[in-house]
Order: sequence, then C-alpha cells, then structure tokens
Amino acid sequence: MQVEAASPARPAASDRARRGLLRISEIFHSIQGEADAIGWPTVFVRLTGCPLRCTWCDTEYAFHGGQWLAIDDVLAQVAGYGARHVCVTGGEPLAQKRCLALLARLCDAGHEVSLETSGALDVSRVDPRVRKVLDLKAPGSSESDRNLWSNLAHLRPHDQVKIVIASRDDYEWARDAVAAHALDRRCMVLFSPVHGAVEPRALAEWILADRLPVRFQLQLHKLLWNDARGK
Ligand code: SF4
Repeated sequence: MQVEAASPARPAASDRARRGLLRISEIFHSIQGEADAIGWPTVFVRLTGCPLRCTWCDTEYAFHGGQWLAIDDVLAQVAGYGARHVCVTGGEPLAQKRCLALLARLCDAGHEVSLETSGALDVSRVDPRVRKVLDLKAPGSSESDRNLWSNLAHLRPHDQVKIVIASRDDYEWARDAVAAHALDRRCMVLFSPVHGAVEPRALAEWILADRLPVRFQLQLHKLLWNDARGK
C-alpha cells in the first residue's frame, strides 16, 4: 500500500496536534534488507523529512511530500499486511515528535518494532521495546559533526549501531570509534559499504585484518530489487 506522494491540503498546526497527525512518505511491505532483522517480511513506515543531507543518501524522495495521517490510520494500514515486524524509518523519523507515540502504539499492538535513525537526534525517549538502529555518520557522509554522542548512553543490548563506509578513511574512523566508545560492548555494530564507493570484499578484508568485533552487512534490498522505491 503506497501512500500518495502529494498532499493537496496541509492541515493547520492545531488540527495536526488535535488529530495526532504524522507526515508519511510511504507504507509498504517488503523484506528487511539490513540490521538484526534482515530477511524478515516487514512493513516499512517511512516518515517524511530529514534535517541531514548525507552525500550518499538513497531516500532523498522522502525529504518532502507525503501525506498527513493519524496514528490510528497508520496502525490500520500496517495491520492490513499481517506482518509481525515493523520498521519505522525515513528520512529521519524522530524529526517528527509524534513518532515517539507511533512507536509505542506499534509495540502495544504486538509488533516487533525497529527504528532507523540518523543518530543526530535524541533517542532517550524512544520506547524501550523498540530496537533502535542508530547510525554513526562517518566523515564521507559530510554529516559527521551531527553525531549526537550522548545517544550512546541510551543504547540497549537489543539495539544496533550502523556505520556506512564510503572509503578507507571512513573505515579507519569507524574502527577508531568502535574502540574509543567500546561500541561492541554496548550492542551489535554493523559496518556497511556505500554501494559503488567501496568494494564489499575490501571492507570485509579490512574487518578481518583488524579482527574487529563488528558485523559486515550488504543491503539485501539492493541485491534483490536494486533499491527500487517501495521495495
Ligand atoms: S540521515 Fe538518512 S535520510 Fe537523512 S540524509 Fe542521511 S541517509 Fe538520507
């Protein structure tokens, strides 16, 4: 079920607050392509908007547009797919403050919920039942100075830290960040190559050579569907 890209009427702020509306880019059913839940049939709820501009961003279409939906309507669409796993993503979903209520309601409804977040916004109020997949932005993203390091204190063992790597320099930054912040003792750490920028085999060999306690991953949805929208 794809949310229409355009929203003809923008509700007034008071109306959005009263009805608890969220701006949704798309809701769709696919295979989870990354992180701990990789391979599970999953409903993706993509929220519109992001304050960052990573150089390698592959969801720029979610920066704008979308449709205002009440949380009850989002829950109803999600339920229609009958999937246990739900991934709330963006854009940067936490840029909309009602995302916190959406996450809690999805958990209340019995879903296994994950949250993909840039790591630039505070995660301290995210429902503890949610599995956070927290990015740390390496320098090649051009958004490294947006990392909110205080977020690391709010990681739980079921969460994950993901670092997307666009070069050998990024790899060395990531390797040093794992050591400096003992990331692997907090939760699972994922290293992922930027498609077309780093040879996956090179990244795998760097990890092995340095005996890093991190998990290499390729994005499954890029292999399956070449990153087609809504997949
Ligand atoms: S944080 Fe995510 S959505 Fe935002 S610009 Fe970076 S990659 Fe794109």
